[in-house]
Amino acid sequence: MTVSPTPRLVPPPFEPIRPTDAQVDTRLRQILKRDSAVVGEMASLDRLMLMLTRSCDLRCSYCMVDLTEDAFGTDHPGHPDDRVFGGPVPVPPLGDMGEDTLRRCIDWLMTSTRDKLEVQMFGGEPARRWEHVVGVMRYAVGHPQRRGRELMFLFTTNGVQLSPERLAEIADLPVMIQFSLDGDLQGSRFRRGHLLDVSAALEAMQDAVGWLNDSGVRWFMNATLPPSAGGEVMDRYAWARSVGVPALQVNYATGMMWKPPQVTSFLDGVQEMLHHHDADPGEMLLFNWNNQADPVPLCGDIIVDVDGRIYQVGALFHERRFPVLKRSYELGSLDDALPFTGTRLSLLELWARTKQELAADRKGLETFLQNIRLGAAFDLVTRATKARLGRDPGDRF
Ligand code: SF4
Repeated sequence: MTVSPTPRLVPPPFEPIRPTDAQVDTRLRQILKRDSAVVGEMASLDRLMLMLTRSCDLRCSYCMVDLTEDAFGTDHPGHPDDRVFGGPVPVPPLGDMGEDTLRRCIDWLMTSTRDKLEVQMFGGEPARRWEHVVGVMRYAVGHPQRRGRELMFLFTTNGVQLSPERLAEIADLPVMIQFSLDGDLQGSRFRRGHLLDVSAALEAMQDAVGWLNDSGVRWFMNATLPPSAGGEVMDRYAWARSVGVPALQVNYATGMMWKPPQVTSFLDGVQEMLHHHDADPGEMLLFNWNNQADPVPLCGDIIVDVDGRIYQVGALFHERRFPVLKRSYELGSLDDALPFTGTRLSLLELWARTKQELAADRKGLETFLQNIRLGAAFDLVTRATKARLGRDPGDRF
């Protein structure tokens, strides 16, 4: 994106924390037993993710969603599509989520018994169906069953379809934009153009950073690092600071195997970032301080697909790598009138189903386990760094 080199940021000297395998396994067991800290039994929040479309302007090399441009712009009828489970391997339903299905999703979320509600727009690139992004938010805000409850929208986007006019259209809504960015030109090598040339896409993303900062809409940069960029945490952090990103969340890509040196580089980089930010936060918030996320592949969130089927979200964000998980991660459909609160699976149950489903795919199961162990290690080093810096009790190990 920006052609000028990103200034290098150097953290104060520190000794990196390197958890042992036994410590990681213990932490993973604790997390599974505790269940999702965000949407689990003890949480006050219910969140619903919406698969608006499988169309996207880009094809990022680390993206595991089964993207397609077939039937883009056509609304799926919104009832379970027989073709999805009609063959030996599940296939995605074609078309986008229609207005009626979007409304039924919100009607379902509003049956939640919880005090806080959140809707996350996901894809593909949700902004490819902009009218639906705006329509579903307006419908939810004025919903008769909302009963004054706190409501938030999280809008996941690659930014290519944003414009000052579009941002002005949603500026009055309680929305937070999760802008998926990979930093400078070197970091953005994982971005692949598809519907438009990659340099045009990167330029559009760069423009969007400025428009967002001028718009008053809350936003943060979500940086997902694949294994080959495991050592680039500080690059993403420095770039974010150099272009005026207001808040940053660093994540790791899943569905691929991380080699031990890549894991070490990533975890050391996370600690460098935390140490630097502790000493010099500048104007930027770092969401990783409050890292309560589930180990990514076993995310506790649920999602509605374009055909109204309800899944644990890993079924869709891993659908190219682990299509077989779809069947065991399916919870029903909007047609089933399920209760909202309590329909999701616990992380323990999800892990049990994953092991069963991937039993015949040794490499796949190894990758999955390695990915959730990385999530546990990420959690451990974050908590231990916080404890070391006196930011909160955290975990010492
Ligand atoms: S922008 Fe998002 S949905 Fe599109 S290819 Fe990249 S990761 Fe996948």
